Amino acid sequence: MSPFAQALARSRPQTRSSRRWLFVPYDQLHDGIGPLANEPPHELGIVLVESRAKAGRRPYHVQKLALVLANMRHFALEQQARGVLVRHVATKGDYASALAPLARELGPLRVQRPAERELRIELQPLFANGSLVEVPHEGWLTTADDFAAIPGPPWRMDAFYRQVRRRTGVLMQRGKPVGGKFSFDAENRRAWDGDPPAPTELTYEPDAITREVCELVRRDFGKHPGTLRPEHLPATRADAERTWQWALRECLPWFGPFEDAMSTRSTSLFHTRLSPLLNLQRVLPKQVLADALATELPLASKEGFVRQILGWREFVRHVHEATDGLRSHAGVPIERNALAADLHLPAAFWPSKPSGLHCLDRVVHDVWHEGYSHHITRLMVLGNLATLLGVLPDELSQWFWFAYADAYDWVVEPNVLAMATYGTGDLMTTKPYVAGSAYLDRMGDYCADCAFDPKTTCPITRLYWAFLARNAERLAGNQRIAMPLRSAQKRSPADKERDAAVAAWVRGTLAHGRRLDPADAP
Ligand SMILES: Cc1cc2nc3c(=O)[nH]c(=O)nc-3n(C[C@H](O)[C@H](O)[C@H](O)COP(=O)(O)OP(=O)(O)OC[C@H]3O[C@@H](n4cnc5c(N)ncnc54)[C@H](O)[C@@H]3O)c2cc1C
Repeated sequence: MSPFAQALARSRPQTRSSRRWLFVPYDQLHDGIGPLANEPPHELGIVLVESRAKAGRRPYHVQKLALVLANMRHFALEQQARGVLVRHVATKGDYASALAPLARELGPLRVQRPAERELRIELQPLFANGSLVEVPHEGWLTTADDFAAIPGPPWRMDAFYRQVRRRTGVLMQRGKPVGGKFSFDAENRRAWDGDPPAPTELTYEPDAITREVCELVRRDFGKHPGTLRPEHLPATRADAERTWQWALRECLPWFGPFEDAMSTRSTSLFHTRLSPLLNLQRVLPKQVLADALATELPLASKEGFVRQILGWREFVRHVHEATDGLRSHAGVPIERNALAADLHLPAAFWPSKPSGLHCLDRVVHDVWHEGYSHHITRLMVLGNLATLLGVLPDELSQWFWFAYADAYDWVVEPNVLAMATYGTGDLMTTKPYVAGSAYLDRMGDYCADCAFDPKTTCPITRLYWAFLARNAERLAGNQRIAMPLRSAQKRSPADKERDAAVAAWVRGTLAHGRRLDPADAP
């Protein structure tokens, strides 16, 4: 018997009476929410399903597969230790076909509303025939009413965040925001030169159960990309708690000022690395919020972090729900490629196919190594370059979905299709997040090791001008980008011609999976 099966059998609680059964999806692994929090453990049973069909649906990063499976298995044992009875099912098929017979045997299963649209759709027939009964998901911090209270579409995170701050009283004093303003974002734009030192990433000692999961992933999903790093896998409730305490102590004091900084010396800098655990509910957003509020921190850091947890994370989930996964709203289809991008995702986004642009290659390398990179590298390196190149937003979104350990449809799609690529136009953001090499050079240290010079030869700046020229009509009337558009228009005919030629060269070279060389530039 495998170590996990043995441990599960050994810890099986005595069952004297019948139990009320719940289905716990892979991303609801906490007993601080829902029936597990509100009802006696010895009256409950939970069903956990490991679905090979789901794991194989996309080439998910091996670290993500191991993260989800190891956490599900440890959660099963943690629940049995509390007296909850566990039915753990490993199936080659999908969730619905595993759950249907169990619902016949155990009676209707309650489930907190699944966060992922993909899972909701799969389970729809079971909800329809009463095999599954939906109860509210208690892991969210905000409600549909909070979202309905703001104007939109288009929706704006700032309006949502202000509404939620007022409604909850978080960082509010006598009806006013603490410190006199709702956001200290403008003060949080420092580059990082090594001082203060970045926190050292935590490591975790893999136990027999985690090691078994890693073997399973290697054996059954050996063709999936990415590096499997067992010692970087938080797998137990205690690991999750330790990660949060590390983040609170080591990262949050400097979270604000260096929020936008990027460095080859640290993939996370003062970011918390919490998203993989928050999105599995191994750490609860309400706990994170309460602890951060109760801790003495500089206000710009505290508010900056609160905005991510109470603002952005909740906001993107509401946008996803309200738009059927960015497909339609109020019966009207949503555009997903507003800038008419037409380039297939270049090979440079995969391991060992470098583009020659050090910023891109380094972040892509980090992602395949860790299944993680922080927000600004996602937005201003990967998203920015893909948008400047005109990469198809849906292809980029799929890539983010399988490359990152924290990706689930409700969070990855709004961030890629709406925020990073402007694929859905102004649905959620006011303008495309695009920048040339000066920004990358100012906020990061990639350029020092690049074959291109950020001030002279780096093609990213010409890509930027070519992007503005290409999209001038589509972006006309957008006040937030009017100034760069005017500057693009004022460029000399020779510059405009060269911008277009460089853009065509970069797109063509990367489309063919080749590496950019300064000597080949037009
Ligand atoms: C192109 C792109 C793709 C992204 N894909 C994902 C994804 O698949 N999964 C994911 O969780 N986040 C995604 N994000 C949002 C954000 O980049 C990550 O949540 C963050 O980088 C995770 O690292 P961290 O935990 O160190 O974050 P920190 O900077 O420490 O932030 C704390 C927490 O705030 C939340 N948060 C911050 N920004 C966002 C945001 N824009 N949307 C949702 N939550 C946010 C996260 O839960 C995060 O853990 C994406 C952003 C971009 C631009």
